[in-house]
Amino acid sequence: MIIVMKPHAAETSIKAITNYIQENGLTAHLSRGTEVTIIGVVGDKNRLSTENLISFKDVDRIVPVTESYKLANKKFHPEPSTVRVGNVSIGPGTLTVMAGPCAVEGEEQLLEVARAVKAAGAVILRGGAYKPRTSPYSFQGLEEEGLRYMQTAGKETGLATVCEVVSHESLETAVKYVDMIQIGARNMQNFILLKEAGRAGIPVLLKRGLSATIEEWLNAAEYIIAEGNPNVVLCERGIRTFETSTRNTLDISAVPVLKEKTHLPVIVDPSHAAGAYKYVTPLAKAAVACGADGLMIEVHNDPAHALSDGPQSLTFEKFDSLMKQIMPYAKLEGRQFPEKRDLEEPSPEEE
Ligand code: PEP
Ligand code: MN
Repeated sequence: MIIVMKPHAAETSIKAITNYIQENGLTAHLSRGTEVTIIGVVGDKNRLSTENLISFKDVDRIVPVTESYKLANKKFHPEPSTVRVGNVSIGPGTLTVMAGPCAVEGEEQLLEVARAVKAAGAVILRGGAYKPRTSPYSFQGLEEEGLRYMQTAGKETGLATVCEVVSHESLETAVKYVDMIQIGARNMQNFILLKEAGRAGIPVLLKRGLSATIEEWLNAAEYIIAEGNPNVVLCERGIRTFETSTRNTLDISAVPVLKEKTHLPVIVDPSHAAGAYKYVTPLAKAAVACGADGLMIEVHNDPAHALSDGPQSLTFEKFDSLMKQIMPYAKLEGRQFPEKRDLEEPSPEEE
């Protein structure tokens, strides 16, 4: 349940209620708006009496929260959250672009991609060091060596960094090198890993599972937040449907649905959704137009020879063109590219 306080409720009233909640063995989470404070209650609500609560000073009303996810729920935290990743913000008012190769393939390769995506306006470098590949015979990633290259490329370019983790060991190693960890689609319901991500102490990018409903996805986010890490960003990356023209089907409606259900930032990965580079830019435009807080795009120096996901990777030129083409959509949505990058308007030929 949530307890909505009257506008400008006294601090002593808020304190009295939170004490009462805690004395009964439940947890109170405060969300302070400009006028109204909301107290979210987590735990066995049968241990609290609603009549008692409503009689506390400055209480306006008590609203039940029927959804199983609480801390990720917009009712608990009506203002949209902003998540800081290194020196970058993901949240309202900005459009945060993460870009880079599917897999880190080498130090020089990563640096080359990092410089190119930065020049085009990306602010976070993505790159996989642990690759959850469908075939066990495919390239599995450079592991810690790849993480070291991510750190070097981040330092060299000033980009923040994000890298997928797939296990306890990879998580423990990754937090030493990157600014944000990613839980991939295949691990979205690996509850042990989610709990560990909740204790990791750095922000988490949580991708949607291949066949996960939005409710299951929000419950996965809840696992992370419940362990004490509120810095979760959701990433829609396409779901399995009967359609085979694209690798997955981008569930664009997930963006407005999530905006209604959660305060967490939402980004879209059109690369894994499409599976083909030529669909990435139109899907990116759609994502921005329907309210995404950012994008994750795969970019490669030589897509034809990429060790993973080459067909969906953009060349530097195509990524630069994508960035220019999404500008007007970002402006219409009132979003700035972070760091006030001076991206040019698209020229008519590039449209
Ligand atoms: C990735 O980002 O490289 C990746 C493997 O994505 P997903 O988990 O969405 O398939
Ligand atoms: Mn990939």
